[in-house]
Amino acid sequence: MSTATAPPVEPLILRGDSRPRLFQPAGSTLEDVILGAWEDLASEGRTKCPVCGDQLAPAGCSSCGSALS
Ligand SMILES: [Zn+2]
Repeated sequence: MSTATAPPVEPLILRGDSRPRLFQPAGSTLEDVILGAWEDLASEGRTKCPVCGDQLAPAGCSSCGSALS
């Protein structure tokens, strides 16, 4: 079982972890996108995949295989 196998996203996560987050930069961060997707998934049972933009279900994205864990 694979969780969050999303090659395009990993570099962003590593970059974001390289320094303490004392304040949020302007605009939507990756974390915001993931949290937003989580909320939509919880309330509606599906959301837009943050990786490929296709439909993301609780079991994962049917297009790119990404899953929120
Ligand atoms: Zn996807």
